Amino acid sequence: MACTIAETGLVACPRCDLLHREPDRAENCTVSCSRCGVVLATPRAGAFTRVFVLALTAMILMVAAVYFPFLELQVAGLNNRTSVLDAILAFSSGLLLPLSVALAAFIVLIPSLRFAAVAYTLWPLVFDRPPFQYARPAFRLAERLRPWAMAEIFVLGVSVALVKVAGMASVGLGPAFWAFCALVVVAALHDNFMCRRTILKSLEQNAQ
Ligand SMILES: [Zn+2]
Repeated sequence: MACTIAETGLVACPRCDLLHREPDRAENCTVSCSRCGVVLATPRAGAFTRVFVLALTAMILMVAAVYFPFLELQVAGLNNRTSVLDAILAFSSGLLLPLSVALAAFIVLIPSLRFAAVAYTLWPLVFDRPPFQYARPAFRLAERLRPWAMAEIFVLGVSVALVKVAGMASVGLGPAFWAFCALVVVAALHDNFMCRRTILKSLEQNAQ
């Protein structure tokens, strides 16, 4: 993450550490590092809208990913369809309860909470209005949760397991599997487009 030194108005490049003087008004242009070209600041309005829409898309995909059938297994004439919610509830009794809680938290709750916090932070900024009262703690929470959102790892794990299962049973991929794959792409784009420095600066300026 780019760090700012408020007293001197300098910004360190997150990739090569080159110090830059903070631009006076970077609202309508993209500012890049003069040595390695990494983006230091992006135009505000467009960037906020893009990240907000991606966070909203991710939340809608998450609903589809949880409720629609994820996998369909056919073996010896038996047919079984299961959703992520079924998988979470399957471990919800006895000794495997912690597994159920971890599955729900890392794959569904934490990623959803993170996207909701980002959407809550950016919603007023998209319309050039002052941020909501709890926008700063919400954005800080979203940043803290980032390493714990593991929907991508889940998709990767399931894909590896499917290769093994495919030899033993006929496996059909449900709409939720594709929703999860789309979610991984949307989450990656969301993280790529999000300029944390620009958002934090906007929240600071509006709080004054
Ligand atoms: Zn650089």
